[in-house]
Amino acid sequence: MSISIENLTKIYGTQKAVDHISFEVKKGEIVGFLGPNGAGKTTTLRTISGMLRPKSGEVYFEGESITKLAPHKVVGRGISHVPEGRMVFANLTVWENLRMGAYLRHGLAAIEHELEFVYSIFPRLKERAKQMAGTLSGGEQQMLAIGRALMAKPKFLMLDEPSLGIAPLLVRSIFETIVEINRTQKLAILLVEQNANLALEISHYGYVLESGSITMRDDSSKLRNNPEIRKAYLGG
Ligand code: ATP
Repeated sequence: MSISIENLTKIYGTQKAVDHISFEVKKGEIVGFLGPNGAGKTTTLRTISGMLRPKSGEVYFEGESITKLAPHKVVGRGISHVPEGRMVFANLTVWENLRMGAYLRHGLAAIEHELEFVYSIFPRLKERAKQMAGTLSGGEQQMLAIGRALMAKPKFLMLDEPSLGIAPLLVRSIFETIVEINRTQKLAILLVEQNANLALEISHYGYVLESGSITMRDDSSKLRNNPEIRKAYLGG
C-alpha cells in the first residue's frame, strides 16, 4: 500500500483551505499531520475520502488515481476515515454500528472474524455490544468509531483528532491501540491531531500544515526536537 497526495488544492468560495499540498504515507507507517485550527487538516482528509472534490491535484492510492471516486468506492479500495467528532449512529447499538462498518464486505465468516478482532483490541466494546452508541462515553464512542472503520478491513486508516474531548486515561489507551494495530496489522495510518506531543510520540513521520500549506516535514523524532516545533506545538 502507498498513498500519495500531489499538489492538492481545495477552495471554499474564495477561501483557499488547502493550497498545493503534497505528501505521502508509506506502507506500515504512522504519519502525523499537525497544525493549528483552520489549517486545512480536516479538508485534506475529506478530500482523500472523496467527500470533497479538489480544485486541482491528485490522490494516488496503490499507483492509481482515486481523486474522482465516490466515497463508498474509496472505502471499497481500502481507505477508512474516522471523522472528527466520531459520528457514531447514536440510536443504534454498538454491535449495529460495527456491523454498518462492514457494509461493503461479503461473507459472514469474514465479518465475524473482523468483529472478533475489533472486540479483542477494544474489549469494552464487547462488554457494551448491546448498548445504544449514544449512551457511551466520549472515549468509548471514539473506540467505536475506530472499530467501525476497521470493520471495512482497510489498508489505510485516517483518524481526525481522536483525542478531542476525551479523558486523558482513555486517550492513552486509544493511542496504545492505534500503535498496536499499526504494528500487528501493518496498517498505514494518517493521524490528524492537535495534541502534537502524542502525535509525534507514536508517528514515524510528520507534516505541519499551516494556513493550507505544508510548512515542515521530517521524521517525527526530529520534529520533536526541533526548537520551532517545540515552541509552537509542544509547549516550549
Ligand atoms: P480544525 O483543527 O479546527 O478542525 P482544520 O485544520 O481541520 O481545523 P479545516 O476544517 O480543514 O481545518 O478548515 C480549513 C479552512 O477552511 C478554515 O478556514 C475553515 O473555516 C474553512 N472551511 C472548512 N469547511 C468549510 C466550508 N464547508 N465552507 C467554507 N469554508 C470552510
